[in-house]
Amino acid sequence: MKASQSFLATLKEAPSDAEVVSHKLMVRAGLIRKLNAGIYNYLPLGLKVIRKVESIIRDEMNRAGAIELLMPMIQPAELWQETGRWEKMGPELLRIKDRHDRDFLIQPTSEEVVTDLARNEIKSYKQLPVNFYQIQTKFRDERRPRFGIMRGREFSMKDAYSFDRDTEGLKKSYQIMFDAYTRIFTRMGLRFRAVTADNGAIGGSGSQEFHVIADIGEDAIVYCPNSDYAANLEAAESLSLLAVRAPATQDMTRIATPDQTHCADVAKFLGLPLEQTVKSLLFAAEQAQGEVALFMLLIRGDHELNEIKASKIPGMAQSRFATETEIKLACNSLAGYLGPVGVAPTVTIVADHTVANMADFVCGANEAGYHLTGVNWGRDLPEPMAMDLRNAVVGDPSPDGKGAVDICRGIEVGHVFQLGTRYSEAMGCTYLDQQGKAQPMVMGCYGIGVTRLLGAAIEQGNDERGIIWPISMAPFEVVICPMGYDKSEAVRSAVDQLHSELVAAGIDVVLDDRGERPGVMFADWELIGVPFRVVIGDRGLADSQAEFKGRTDAESQNIPLSEIKEKVI
Ligand code: ATP
Ligand code: MG
Ligand code: MG
Ligand code: MG
Repeated sequence: MKASQSFLATLKEAPSDAEVVSHKLMVRAGLIRKLNAGIYNYLPLGLKVIRKVESIIRDEMNRAGAIELLMPMIQPAELWQETGRWEKMGPELLRIKDRHDRDFLIQPTSEEVVTDLARNEIKSYKQLPVNFYQIQTKFRDERRPRFGIMRGREFSMKDAYSFDRDTEGLKKSYQIMFDAYTRIFTRMGLRFRAVTADNGAIGGSGSQEFHVIADIGEDAIVYCPNSDYAANLEAAESLSLLAVRAPATQDMTRIATPDQTHCADVAKFLGLPLEQTVKSLLFAAEQAQGEVALFMLLIRGDHELNEIKASKIPGMAQSRFATETEIKLACNSLAGYLGPVGVAPTVTIVADHTVANMADFVCGANEAGYHLTGVNWGRDLPEPMAMDLRNAVVGDPSPDGKGAVDICRGIEVGHVFQLGTRYSEAMGCTYLDQQGKAQPMVMGCYGIGVTRLLGAAIEQGNDERGIIWPISMAPFEVVICPMGYDKSEAVRSAVDQLHSELVAAGIDVVLDDRGERPGVMFADWELIGVPFRVVIGDRGLADSQAEFKGRTDAESQNIPLSEIKEKVI
């Protein structure tokens, strides 16, 4: 590849909306360009990285026996009505209409369509197990798209769906995917952790997330440095310790039933029907078993808001924000804050300070006479959860007894989930077993954030000069920089020859034929993050030498031209 044909689009400055280093560098290196909030053009170099990520994923998915297919991005509402998700999902689901006024959506994920496919195509136990996957564009109308393509609205995901005869089969399929994910992220050279995630109704360790460790990660992970124990906040067992530690005050021992006034506000905020909201809140209260005097919808960051709006509220018990332990924990910890000042909130939505309009409606007073409005973390209350947890949880014994736990932050790049029969039962996706009896297929689903992985890798690999790609993801593996490409015949023929030689050896090499000054060339390729640089000029050529430098090496070294190939292979 020649640089002149690669559409390099490096920039000196990052856009002002770029908060994190990966976003800044992806724009500056010419990998992406914003079209709209959370919607990006992938420029040629960015697409090249995406293709490399996809190829690692494909390779490992195929090796694990999964079968690639492609499902439509535009899906009919009917299928989603069968599972109830058409109604349940909030505004994160982008709904559209065709010319006949029929309802459609742009897929945020594809359980319904794949289940429909399976119920039509799979009849017998002999056809199971099977695992279908696709790598395709998803759309989620995230409330707060940010960090470039890490939390985009349009993004690419690898989503896989396994179908098994029974739970035992599902466990095997799940383990195969877990192992494949481990290989995928290892091949990408990432520092990551598999963490237990809460999976509501199914229970057990039926759901795990893969997190790339990074300070800007939106999720907190409780882990034990001495063992494999790791769980996200919702699933961390040591959380219960916090609830135990923060004793409820007397005021907190009674459930306050939300009255219609409170609920109207809450419903308005959530964009849900009033009746549904009241039911949900009552349900949450029941779940809390009379131990608390308030509801608290704990919204940790406003990016989660849509999720809560969308799917969490109507099924509180299944919500990772509102499991029984969560509610108790949330209430107790708020009680811990408020007890000393004698405040007893009734219905409270606690949000992080980034939700500016919280102040207007948060809650009203009931006969208890106290209410809390305009919660502003840091001003009215100590910073929520994360900080509180840090103090409470760090140093706790790990549930596996192998040491004390710590907390770090992670970027969720993958998620494996044992779905069970939730979708197959709702949609009548059955097969005939050996006795000829119809049984629901037992499903699992497995996602990887393809485009998010680029950002996550850059968060882990960068310095003041630019991106440091793991070699398996780099847009080019080697760059050849000629000193005087247009001036010296000797240089030109030496670099052309080396270029052809490396291409023939299957190395992804780029020759910088732009005729730029060395400083410009070096800065561009360091920004883009090419792992190896070879500089060839007349002086070195006299001794058949080239200057060789790894992206993270402090100094370049002179090596014989003939040794370059083996250096980069
Ligand atoms: P998050 O908690 O970050 O919102 P999620 O749990 O909603 O993610 P899943 O439904 O588990 O996401 O989807 C599978 C994977 O898709 C995630 O693990 C993540 O890597 C990726 N992903 C999800 N939302 C986005 C997004 N808005 N932009 C880019 N990638 C995303
Ligand atoms: Mg999400
Ligand atoms: Mg998540
Ligand atoms: Mg997830």
